[in-house]
Amino acid sequence: MILILLGAPGAGKGTQAQRLQDSRGLVQLSTGDMLRAAVAAGTDVGKKAKEVMERGELVSDDIMTGIISDRLDQPDCANGVILDGFPRTEAQAEALDNMLNDKKLSLNAVIEMKTDDAVLVERVTGRYTCANCGAGYHDSFLKPAKEGVCDKCGGQEFTRRSDDNAETVTSRLKAYHAQTAPLLPYYKGKGILKQVDGMAEINEVTRQIEAELQNI
Ligand code: ADP
Ligand code: ADP
Ligand code: ZN
Repeated sequence: MILILLGAPGAGKGTQAQRLQDSRGLVQLSTGDMLRAAVAAGTDVGKKAKEVMERGELVSDDIMTGIISDRLDQPDCANGVILDGFPRTEAQAEALDNMLNDKKLSLNAVIEMKTDDAVLVERVTGRYTCANCGAGYHDSFLKPAKEGVCDKCGGQEFTRRSDDNAETVTSRLKAYHAQTAPLLPYYKGKGILKQVDGMAEINEVTRQIEAELQNI
């Protein structure tokens, strides 16, 4: 199965993708995580992406489609993937259609996580991640059972993204509305767009996504 989670920064894509990975054996492909790894490793892609990401703008379509095409060819993706953060432009969506065609794969569903912009700054500025296993948390909305200890792996070190500040979120939201939101009618036209209420509580969003996937 190939799924896209589509939503604004902080809509809950990563949170739900981690759950689908655990419950359905799909692989989460987070282009943001891949880019952050490239920046940390100082690769050519990382050097090109670093400042663009810090400004809250989008990395070039060529770089992004190259990364996703290579990743889809790896054996662990054979059971299916959840695209988290890709595509983000119409050019990326068209490139994805072409590459899936070439690879004899097809897109099963695009799930829009609908949110009001007003909640997103608090979502993003309160976000943090286990440094060991990557599990996502939130200062107010998703705390580990024991403070300072990751529920999944027991890790005690956590990281915050340098772009998760109020100013960058504003640019990322602008980029979302200008460049990514046009994908909604694109996928609606193909008859594969589903919607869930991204404003609902995290477990309820998971329930709505699972309900949509029942019909596929
Ligand atoms: P995205 O990947 O779409 O940018 P995340 O999944 O990282 O978003 O979620 C952003 C932050 O909001 C995280 O700290 C997460 O724990 C929290 N969060 C995710 N979904 C919800 C929700 N439905 N209600 C409240 N907080 C949420
Ligand atoms: P979020 O979903 O919280 O907005 P991501 O982790 O998906 O953040 O992305 C972080 C940053 O990485 C984006 O602001 C952008 O600069 C870059 N990025 C990630 N995916 C893409 C993509 N598909 N196309 C262009 N830039 C991307
Ligand atoms: Zn952990």
